[in-house]
Amino acid sequence: MSKKKRILTGDRPTGPLHLGHYVGSLKNRVLLQDEYEQFILIADIQALTDNFENPQKIKNNILELALDYLSVEISPEKSTIIIQSQVPELAELTVYLMNMITVAQLERNPTVKNEIRQKGYRENVPVGFFVYPISQSADILGFQANLVPVGEDQLPMIEQSREIARRFNSLYGQTFVEPKEMLSEVPRLCGIDGKEKMSKSLNNTINLSDSADIVVEKVMRMYTDPTRVRATDPGHTEHNPVFIYLNAFHDDKKEIKDFEDRYRLGKVGDIEVKKRLVEILNSFLEPIRQKRKEYEKDSHLVNSILKRGTEKGRAVVEQTMTLVRKAVKTDYFG
Ligand code: ATP
Ligand code: MG
Repeated sequence: MSKKKRILTGDRPTGPLHLGHYVGSLKNRVLLQDEYEQFILIADIQALTDNFENPQKIKNNILELALDYLSVEISPEKSTIIIQSQVPELAELTVYLMNMITVAQLERNPTVKNEIRQKGYRENVPVGFFVYPISQSADILGFQANLVPVGEDQLPMIEQSREIARRFNSLYGQTFVEPKEMLSEVPRLCGIDGKEKMSKSLNNTINLSDSADIVVEKVMRMYTDPTRVRATDPGHTEHNPVFIYLNAFHDDKKEIKDFEDRYRLGKVGDIEVKKRLVEILNSFLEPIRQKRKEYEKDSHLVNSILKRGTEKGRAVVEQTMTLVRKAVKTDYFG
């Protein structure tokens, strides 16, 4: 058995992965995949909770998500990629964990509150959506994860997973590992529209699979500093996506500082900074695009990576479930 500590993390197959996913979580996954035993979950059941009217969209995005992972060098030899729906034990675990948490606790979750507002559900929140944080806890606890590399919006989910684990362990005896979150240096990347989070659902992303031309187009229409009318006006670099992205994707801090100083003094225009940002983003994205192309040619290989990963992941959750069923006395036939 592997002595490495475990990571569980994942994404909803609701659309292409973007720069926010990269800096918020993917980068850490690539860095940590040697040191940890890493499981990456394609959370299709969770994606259905707010997309149940469009299951084809979720299905189509599973392969796309896998291609995104492989293209950023998540290695199928080092990391295990799993399709959530194909591990029914996770649904079983969700049911048991539902008893460990109250409706009031779920209602306090600020991320879910925010999402309910964004989706305009008002009083008509689907029960499946409302309880998705419990199914997410089942994912984390089912894999006995020590560490969960996530963006800032996921902190309440990890906290809640710890609470559920503690409750379960104190009621039934030591069963689950208490997971810890891992935040990156950029735990929340803003959107190209300046909104606080780049998000698949908000149409404000630069995707890892965007072509060079699309990147030009998106950067050129990117929100900058609304108080600045002319290039000679002094500008603001804080809350300005162009500078936020420069800081997140460019290693030459001296060059960034020079741009920032000149921008604040009204000595450089938006266009010049944006042109430089396009170069930086495109040189970051080019190897990712190339790698994606290689895997796109071989969907058979990608499918077999998913199948193998899912089988391996399912066996891990099955081990946890043996402990769980014993703890809650449902191991009736042994
Ligand atoms: P959706 O709108 O469907 O929820 P999403 O863009 O929020 O999509 P998820 O699949 O929910 O993406 O999130 C996957 C992981 O990426 C999570 O760990 C999340 O915290 C992280 N993440 C998503 N967007 C950002 C962002 N803009 N900055 C940093 N991390 C992010
Ligand atoms: Mg999300």
